[in-house]
Amino acid sequence: MNKPSNSRRKFIGQLSLGAAAIAANPLSLYADGRPGGRPLGIALVGLGKYSTGQLGPALRQTTMCRLTGVVTGSPEKGAQWAKDYGFPVKNIYSYDTMHQMAGNPDIDIVYVVTPNGLHATHAIAAARAGKHVICEKPMARTVAECDSILAACREAKVRLSIGYRLHFDPYHRELMRLAKEKDFGVFTNMTADRGFIMKNKVWRADKQLAGGGPIMDLGIYIIHGACMAANGATPLWVTASEHPKTRPDIFSDVEEGMNWKMEFPGGGVCTAQTSYQHGADRFRAEGDKGWIEFKEHAFTYRGMVVETSRGPLNFTPPNQQALQMDDFADCILSNRETPVPGELGRRDLAIIEAIYSAAATGRRVQVKA
Ligand code: NAD
Repeated sequence: MNKPSNSRRKFIGQLSLGAAAIAANPLSLYADGRPGGRPLGIALVGLGKYSTGQLGPALRQTTMCRLTGVVTGSPEKGAQWAKDYGFPVKNIYSYDTMHQMAGNPDIDIVYVVTPNGLHATHAIAAARAGKHVICEKPMARTVAECDSILAACREAKVRLSIGYRLHFDPYHRELMRLAKEKDFGVFTNMTADRGFIMKNKVWRADKQLAGGGPIMDLGIYIIHGACMAANGATPLWVTASEHPKTRPDIFSDVEEGMNWKMEFPGGGVCTAQTSYQHGADRFRAEGDKGWIEFKEHAFTYRGMVVETSRGPLNFTPPNQQALQMDDFADCILSNRETPVPGELGRRDLAIIEAIYSAAATGRRVQVKA
């Protein structure tokens, strides 16, 4: 027999990881023999704005998974969620009792939606309880933390995905298609801007809880989008400079804003800025045969306005979060790799670390992804 090629070895490895993951979480079988037969149970960790406004409601629209538990610091809030979403109160956990989920078959997937600085702790606790993990962006504060999450998931033989919902948005899928099929040529010139005005100091401006300032929260979308427009490539080099601080009372230990440039293999460049001092949400990619421009709400989940050199795009906006969570459930049930694995989250943190290093030193810094 021929020796398996590298890619085949990788595929076989992925399959065996998937099979082991399912063996660790035995489920009933679908009629066609696939594991599953019931929607997978998801527990949300952290019941703040994103869980309340987006993920909870999206879980009313999913077909492959549903909300079966929560992890919260507030038992009263947990009880209200149990009532609203119809799951038993035994499925309400605190951050300190997450390990007890190990014995709870109602919960297959744990979705970490706490401040960035807590992602590693909560994702690792979920993996050790034998649950598959979805972790919100940014995956963690540092590459080292990403590595510890990846290792915990590998060790527990559970799957890991990052909340990169735009992979399930039709406009961003069109961007990926254009990048792949080169209708507009290779995108060599990208520009982007994302920001909002932060009025008071909240955890997003606290280094310990956020890992950094707007580059962590908002710039990461530009970084991820530019890599999509570069057909999945990682930038080789970055240069960056922090915006001068106009409100050091709020931005005492994180940047208030950042300008940066990413240089991709083949000569593509993305020039971008992000800040907590101005409102913006734009992204443009140009090739030698055309362009695509996300003019408004480029990276959000409603109100996207997208034009191309061929005319405007008009897709019906789906519920990105419902598609994202259903896809992850399907990956588990059908033993398929997620298009948004932990490695993508780690890559983006490697780029962010290079950007911080470039801003601190004033040098052009190589990305070590
Ligand atoms: P939020 O402040 O509204 O909610 C955070 C939750 O974590 C709250 O329920 C809070 O009680 C809980 N928490 C637990 N320990 C805490 C602590 N020590 N300090 C502060 N809060 C603590 O934040 P959010 O907007 O829901 O964001 C949560 C995560 O989701 C972040 O990682 C953020 O980047 C991500 N997010 C992603 C998207 C997206 O579109 N993918 C959108 C918004 C937020």
